[in-house]
Amino acid sequence: MLDSRKCITCGRCIQVCQQDQNVWALSFLNRGFETRIAAAGDIALANSPCVRCGQCSAHCPTGAIVEYDESVKVWEKLEDPNAFCVAQIAPAVRVAVGEAFGFPVGANLTGKIYAALRRMGFKAVFDTNFGADLTIIEEATEFKSRLMEGKGVLPLITTCCPGWVDFMEKFHGDMIPHFSSCKSPHAMVGALSKTYYAEKQKIDPAKIYMVSIMPCTAKKAEIIRSKEMSSSGYQDVDVSITTREFARMIKQSGIDFVTIPDEPCDHILGMYTGAGTIFGVTGGVMEAALRTAYFYITGADAPKVEFKVTRGLTGVKEGSIEVAGKTIRIAVAHGLANVEQVIDKIRAAKAAGEETPYHFVEVMACPGGCVGGGGQPYGATNELRTGRAAGLYREDHGDQLRCSHHNPYIKQLYDEFLGAPASHKAEQLLHTGYQVLPEYKR
Ligand code: SF4
Ligand code: SF4
Repeated sequence: MLDSRKCITCGRCIQVCQQDQNVWALSFLNRGFETRIAAAGDIALANSPCVRCGQCSAHCPTGAIVEYDESVKVWEKLEDPNAFCVAQIAPAVRVAVGEAFGFPVGANLTGKIYAALRRMGFKAVFDTNFGADLTIIEEATEFKSRLMEGKGVLPLITTCCPGWVDFMEKFHGDMIPHFSSCKSPHAMVGALSKTYYAEKQKIDPAKIYMVSIMPCTAKKAEIIRSKEMSSSGYQDVDVSITTREFARMIKQSGIDFVTIPDEPCDHILGMYTGAGTIFGVTGGVMEAALRTAYFYITGADAPKVEFKVTRGLTGVKEGSIEVAGKTIRIAVAHGLANVEQVIDKIRAAKAAGEETPYHFVEVMACPGGCVGGGGQPYGATNELRTGRAAGLYREDHGDQLRCSHHNPYIKQLYDEFLGAPASHKAEQLLHTGYQVLPEYKR
């Protein structure tokens, strides 16, 4: 939403939309005192090429562009005696929400967040990091079958970022065959909360109200993007709120967030490994996937689980790793303008009939990945993004379990419910499809 009364026509939103994201949804209209900000061509934003990354709102110095606030919906459900409200938090939320309460940048407040959610009235508290571990199991399985068995084209491109998925569907539809079919981690947890969890706990899934707390504005649209987002028979995630909305809710609730003691999450859909944690930073999905892909291909864990080539804020990171005598070439891009050069390389190699320049590509729409997400606390700079990322890497480094395939609750989920990675049930609940949206022009 744009409140023109607060807008000082500084143009930061336009700069980030056009230059950093290469989306060109926003533009200056008119001249002189009549100048205003709007969707290019003065069309409705919903009809513009906007991919809902929210970088305009993250960069606006006056709060003139903001996400649609859905916290009231959550409060209403929390007061409904017939609703069984459950929540999940994304990796990047835990190292950013503290900025709204005076904690140092990168302070990891996972236990306080779980505790605050229970005080608000949530009956179960899950963690999207669990969904990240699950994404890795499904995605590494998909990668192995493309790489080793030739089932599908290479490179495989990650799809856990809905801003990137929207961008690809609008501008790069020819890349669809390269896309992983995996849903994003919170969508997986949503589907499992209304199937696996409901069955295990004997709760009517119709009563479960799943709230995702995300660093992201694009996830608000993702939860209704296609029928696969209702794979449980209900809308899998009922509402997605940003870190900023969540921080306001904590303040509204009167909880003393600074002193509240840590609590654990509910383990069935909550326990996670370090691999799930680093999903919140650019390169983290690739690093987590490589840890498990290495195991799936060789049958043994990698001698070193840290793949440093994936780390840092360089716009496009390229490198290779050796796995069982094979060289796997990777690329990691963040900030949508940076993605174009990776896509151009893939297209050029295809057109020339050459070998693919990469086997595996990670893309995150926001600069820095989700730590710099459009729904995070305001004022993101590279220093801030690096500090938040350090909070995630610290947790991963200190974890006993750092590979998704070692998560005992993931093993239990497959044993009790899904059967095996890429099984029919896993495909139905955890995977999705994509479509070309040809009407969008920049
Ligand atoms: S960043 Fe905010 S204040 Fe600046 S032009 Fe955009 S909407 Fe207006
Ligand atoms: S990078 Fe993260 S926060 Fe940004 S659009 Fe993608 S999923 Fe959302």
